[in-house]
Amino acid sequence: MAIDFTLGPELEDLRVRVREFIQGVVKPGEAQIGDPDHIERADYIRILLQMRAEAKAAGLWLPHMPAEWGGMGLGHVELAMVQAEAAKSYYGPWVLNCQAPDEGNMHTLLHWATDAQKEKYLRPLCEGVAMSCFAMTEPEVAGSDPTLIQTRAVLDGDDWVINGHKWFISNARRASFAILIARTEDNPERPQAANTGFIVDIPSEGWTRVREVETMHGATGHSEIRIENLRVPRANVLGERGQGHRLGQYRLGPARLAHCMRWIAQAETALDMMVDRSLKRFAHGSLLAEKQGIQWMIADSTMELYQAKLMVLHAAYRIDRGLDFISEVSMAKHFVANALGRIIDRSIQVHGALGYSTDTPLAHMYQHARWARFADGPDEVHQMRIAQRTIAAYTKEGSTRAATGDLPL
Ligand SMILES: Cc1cc2nc3c(=O)[nH]c(=O)nc-3n(C[C@H](O)[C@H](O)[C@H](O)COP(=O)(O)OP(=O)(O)OC[C@H]3O[C@@H](n4cnc5c(N)ncnc54)[C@H](O)[C@@H]3O)c2cc1C
Repeated sequence: MAIDFTLGPELEDLRVRVREFIQGVVKPGEAQIGDPDHIERADYIRILLQMRAEAKAAGLWLPHMPAEWGGMGLGHVELAMVQAEAAKSYYGPWVLNCQAPDEGNMHTLLHWATDAQKEKYLRPLCEGVAMSCFAMTEPEVAGSDPTLIQTRAVLDGDDWVINGHKWFISNARRASFAILIARTEDNPERPQAANTGFIVDIPSEGWTRVREVETMHGATGHSEIRIENLRVPRANVLGERGQGHRLGQYRLGPARLAHCMRWIAQAETALDMMVDRSLKRFAHGSLLAEKQGIQWMIADSTMELYQAKLMVLHAAYRIDRGLDFISEVSMAKHFVANALGRIIDRSIQVHGALGYSTDTPLAHMYQHARWARFADGPDEVHQMRIAQRTIAAYTKEGSTRAATGDLPL
């Protein structure tokens, strides 16, 4: 029997260790921080760094990176388990150094960077002494179609000179470098081959942080960047010329799935809270948990979370086995992002006014969940690609089976 959902004793032990670490170290640290807007910056940093030191000491550092980079060398199925435990706390993934956008950037550098680039940029990220950002989206053109990118890089001697405009660049204010995607090719063979990736040191002359974009969850580190005559040495091209789109796609596959793993943790927290509240709140002659209207919300959320877990595990399994995973990651990303929003929404409903308040984490989680439906590929673009693959599978094989996870069913 090849399909086995049990974990070996080593993995079960790892899962328990992550869970206990989050409960015993990160949750108390989170409670100590409280509202990050109301704590002294120095205390905030001290608490975070202390938790990171404890994660390293506990051997729970960089779960997604190979051992030679100081990581735990986990595959994607194993990583799913760790991320789903870590993200039970808002700070968990950061403490374990497997948070976006650094995590996706580490994958990208590991795969595409030269040895010299890895030593200079990947090493400090892995050691936790530097942070990074990924700069692709532009205000003037649709971010969901990278063939429209207008930021332009032109070769001038040994340097590339770059001009353009980016926004929503997460982490830019703290980053010591950016992976920047810019247009370099005028008449590429395919429209997707117009862009190239560059590593940009921050600060650099010509890279200007204009403002932090205020969002529905505050101004929490998504910057608008003006790029004016920024000079980047040839040695800082990441991958080959014209491979910017492939680089973005390579980064986004595992990075999208890692988001899903963290969203599962959030959805599970919301469902746990929904059930807990329904067992404690009494109205109209019975507990909320005894009312069919509430049971339907619990049942729908339970089924959706179950589907989310299966989809994520299967997509991770395909990545680990070197199988094509693009469609499975697309389907998982779309499904989990939407399920997350629905489950948190139901949990807020069951909590009533308390759910709308900031006394529980639900309001904060709801604001973040809204972002999930369009960042890293809007719902509709994933649906378009999923449908294209289903139609192609049917056209080629007379059956849609290959497009539904290529499962033996
Ligand atoms: C909190 C946050 C953090 C982010 N961090 C980063 C970052 O670090 N780096 C970075 O580069 N970007 C980042 N982004 C930007 C994000 O990747 C983009 O928002 C996303 O790619 C969509 O691009 P857009 O906002 O330009 O929307 P658009 O591309 O303008 O799309 C708008 C809407 O149009 C519709 N649409 C688009 N294409 C189709 C289609 N083919 N069919 C039907 N409908 C369609 C969808 O409904 C979509 O939501 C971040 C965004 C947020 C909100």
